[in-house]
Amino acid sequence: MKQYSNSKSVASGCLKVFLVVFGSIALLFGVFGLVDLVSGGQVVGTEEDVSYLTGIIMTTFSFAVGFGCFATFFMMLRQAKIIGYYIALIGNKKSIPIKWLAEKRNVSQEKVIKDLYKMMSRGVFTDGHIEENMNILLFPDENSIGEFKTVICKNCGGSVVIREGHEEKCTYCGARIRE
Ligand SMILES: [Zn+2]
Repeated sequence: MKQYSNSKSVASGCLKVFLVVFGSIALLFGVFGLVDLVSGGQVVGTEEDVSYLTGIIMTTFSFAVGFGCFATFFMMLRQAKIIGYYIALIGNKKSIPIKWLAEKRNVSQEKVIKDLYKMMSRGVFTDGHIEENMNILLFPDENSIGEFKTVICKNCGGSVVIREGHEEKCTYCGARIRE
């Protein structure tokens, strides 16, 4: 698996717990506030001089915060799922065509590039590099030396980015590529 910042995943785990706990408390306050408003201040024992309007504002605020927390939580779950999908697709590959990722994800190539940059900023695939003019995601190969270059696969005709002096397989058809 490629470089993945562990401290960031722990931090996001803590944030998820916080969102659920805090969101639940906020929703609970909202429910209490609502019951209080309906029952005319009997449940929480609101003083008569505390205006009805304050009650409405507090209740609305509690619900807004509660729903906001849960919305953020579910958004984070969705993002984690998307990141997991990219990690599974990319695996140990060293050069991945954006087009291929877009086809697998069933989204546009622009969306894939946006997703990749977003993930990189969050500590996933930090050693990756998007070669935008070639529309390819590259990872450094520790064993190789030399520059990246584009060669045409003799088997399928696809253009494949390889490291000079390094034998690699075609991203499209899997055939061995020799210079
Ligand atoms: Zn090929």
